[in-house]
Amino acid sequence: MAVELSHFVGGKRVPGESGDFADVLDPVGGTVAARVPLANAREVSAIVSDAERAQQEWAAFNPQRRARVLMRFLQLVQDEMDSLARLLSSEHGKTVADAKGDIQRGLEVVEFAVGIPHLLKGEYTESAGPGIDVYSMRQPLGVVAGITPFNFPAMIPLWQAAPALACGNSFVLKPSERDPSVPLRLAELFVEAGLPPGVFDVVNGDKTAVDALLADERVRAVGFVGSTPIAQYIYETAARNGTRAQCFGGAKNHAVVMPDADLDEVADAVVGAGYGSAGERCMAISVVVPVGEATADALVEKIAERVRGLTIGPGDDAASDYGPLVGPDAVDRVNGYVDLGVEEGAELVVDGRGFTLPGHENGYFVGPSLFDRVTPEMRIHREEIFGPVLLVARAANYEEALRLPSEHEYGNGVAIFTRDGDTARDFTARVNVGMVGVNVPIPVPIAYHTFGGWKRSVFGDLNQHGPDSIRFYTKTKTVTQRWPAGLREAADGAVDRGDHFVIPTMK
Ligand code: NAD
Repeated sequence: MAVELSHFVGGKRVPGESGDFADVLDPVGGTVAARVPLANAREVSAIVSDAERAQQEWAAFNPQRRARVLMRFLQLVQDEMDSLARLLSSEHGKTVADAKGDIQRGLEVVEFAVGIPHLLKGEYTESAGPGIDVYSMRQPLGVVAGITPFNFPAMIPLWQAAPALACGNSFVLKPSERDPSVPLRLAELFVEAGLPPGVFDVVNGDKTAVDALLADERVRAVGFVGSTPIAQYIYETAARNGTRAQCFGGAKNHAVVMPDADLDEVADAVVGAGYGSAGERCMAISVVVPVGEATADALVEKIAERVRGLTIGPGDDAASDYGPLVGPDAVDRVNGYVDLGVEEGAELVVDGRGFTLPGHENGYFVGPSLFDRVTPEMRIHREEIFGPVLLVARAANYEEALRLPSEHEYGNGVAIFTRDGDTARDFTARVNVGMVGVNVPIPVPIAYHTFGGWKRSVFGDLNQHGPDSIRFYTKTKTVTQRWPAGLREAADGAVDRGDHFVIPTMK
């Protein structure tokens, strides 16, 4: 019997009222594990009302008190790390060790947000004009919303919520309907940590709930992470409604391999970054670009050897390198792309189709595939596969290799492997991609820097976490003040009242 999940409103779990549900699957067994309610517009409106009410009280907490709630939250999540990671793995499919990484990378942004008393400080200019001081302050927006993807059900909600809450907003999370249980548990832990009820609410749902959030003028900002078509839709809708938005989309990340690189190290790195989490990462390496035929021949052999040795199994088996995909639609999509690559003329070096795990025949497991001799115009190169499929696109020289990520429509992450500082420096300066790794396959910036791709991997101006997140979740108010010199000087009648009809300048 499938468990019935809920929303989280006003500090407690609240059942759905719409009568609509989505199945939450067990990707290892291929069965329905739970049913998640899909909110209708009326439920979304009630949740936004709850968040709006709670925000007033929360914004009145001074920044240090808000930071203390986040500190307690950090401890509570650490205490529960093991069971949270298992819960995450049971709905997503990623290994428990990788699920811990998902939670930990989220906590690192909470740690960053604990510095909020410092981060929220405004600017001040004394004597900007005669007797005039100018200062700015950062004030919360009010109610803000986050719409998040299935592939990082802990990290991405925390990347959004931590700075949003620290700045004094209330936060309504619409997590992926595929793995909502960890977000619901995080909401409970926030309340246990001392967050006033209603400051972090969770509304489960699909497009109906998202559209209701976008249409509600009380929602002042929307953070979205997911696929590019939906990112663009949300950005355009938010812009039309005058709602601040940052929307992060899909990716196709290249790893350029120069002939001087250590090819064993590169093979280890790209196999981990390509097949880890079954390739369901927006920063996964999906295209390896060896420079020169000799580099390519040697590297493909080393990668293929490692790919053939990968262990695919349940997420809670410590021996598994990666687990099942999130659902049967993902299995069909990935297998479809492997079929397409063969049709397009790429050389299939390792074929992951038709893989089944004995004892888990109904699970959503897919074997690893490796393509060589992929060319830029092939659809398997142009489109995001989001599965355990690695492509090798050979480049004749460095300039050709540089063009592949630079001219791709996505621009999330890229890496270069080389021992030569000059090549690395040229690459980092010229590549047309937002996040670059030098001998680092997955260059996800640390919490106090910012995360964001370029081109069609993003819609909006400000990145996630780091200083940009404080700008995104606050509005700046700038005060120009002058105190009439009444009390000290009026006694001798020497007050100059100036000319009020000419625009003030600082001459
Ligand atoms: P998705 O776009 O299908 O869903 C993301 C969210 O949008 C979910 O909450 C979903 O319920 C909602 N949604 C789906 N369809 C919608 C619609 N028509 N209208 C309104 N809302 C809708 O993405 P996903 O499959 O959950 O996640 C995988 C994608 O996310 C990949 O493309 C991956 O590259 C991307 N991703 C990007 C980043 C990044 O930082 N750039 C990070 C993680 C994942």
